[in-house]
Amino acid sequence: MRPFEYVRPTTVGEATDFLREHGDDALVVAGGTAAVVMMTLGVLRPDYVVDVGFIPELGPELDGSRSGGAGLRLGALTTVRSIERDPAIAGAYGLLADAASQVANVRVRNRATVGGSVCYGEPQTDLPPALIAMGASATIAASTGVRTVPLAGFFEGPYETVLQAGELLTEITVPLPEPGTFGCHAKFTVGSPENKPVANASVLVRTDEAGRCVEARIVMGAVGPVPVVAEAAAALLAGEVPDAKLIAEVAARAADATDPQDDLRGPVWYKRRIAAVLVERALSCALRKAGNGTR
Ligand SMILES: Cc1cc2nc3c(=O)[nH]c(=O)nc-3n(C[C@H](O)[C@H](O)[C@H](O)COP(=O)(O)OP(=O)(O)OC[C@H]3O[C@@H](n4cnc5c(N)ncnc54)[C@H](O)[C@@H]3O)c2cc1C
Repeated sequence: MRPFEYVRPTTVGEATDFLREHGDDALVVAGGTAAVVMMTLGVLRPDYVVDVGFIPELGPELDGSRSGGAGLRLGALTTVRSIERDPAIAGAYGLLADAASQVANVRVRNRATVGGSVCYGEPQTDLPPALIAMGASATIAASTGVRTVPLAGFFEGPYETVLQAGELLTEITVPLPEPGTFGCHAKFTVGSPENKPVANASVLVRTDEAGRCVEARIVMGAVGPVPVVAEAAAALLAGEVPDAKLIAEVAARAADATDPQDDLRGPVWYKRRIAAVLVERALSCALRKAGNGTR
């Protein structure tokens, strides 16, 4: 690994001031589960490593979530594991907890942060589709000020996001879902289940008392350069009491919206087929929960 200077800011201001001066030559590190691997492989060769893991503002007590009437606020350092285990998140934000529980393995989940999961911009990631389906936004700080970006517009391509040199993601906010909203995340891997996804699908539905779909959101990961929001497919559900035929139709329409690449995880036709199966599974699961009223 190339030698670098290790910097450990203790406030967001200190971090963004340093990044304003050295942003082009610095690498922010949170959990380090991706950044350190990339440095070890020589893909990233920063002059400065800015370890943001000791900034209390990025997560209460360095790790944790705050939920209230207005929604959920996740400090950037909130670990994937704490999202998986937080009872408040499992309740109203069940889709997010479901996606978190399927990330890698416990060892990785204990280190990887929500900020790192998002800022890495890797298509084969589980939290972004769930967060986009839930309408989440990212708060981004720089020495010049703070901006908020909906996560649906955060990703620009593989490993490319709207983050500019000098910026730090400080928080993810998730609006409180309407009562009666239920969601499921489905993931498929080759090899071990803890591997990165061939494809995944996050589905959120809200139904009325008659079981008619009032709202539906479908977002797929790993089947395009950025998470794929399948709006046309979700629109097929509006006002319907979905049966197996409609669910299959929705899944097929969602798969049409994907833009996967041939790689070691499989060819394009296979990933599209898998995406359809995952949407079918996640949608059936969400509708089942809505029918039972249980998360
Ligand atoms: C073996 C293995 C399997 C995995 N499988 C999965 C999987 O199945 N599904 C899944 O979703 N994930 C999986 N992951 C995790 C994922 O690939 C990333 O490693 C993880 O999400 C990164 O989080 P981190 O906190 O460790 O980020 P880091 O490694 O610290 O950083 C990652 C990137 O984000 C940037 N960054 C981090 N925090 C900030 C911030 N606050 N502001 C600005 N930039 C920031 C860094 O500069 C870096 O570019 C796996 C990881 C491993 C090692």
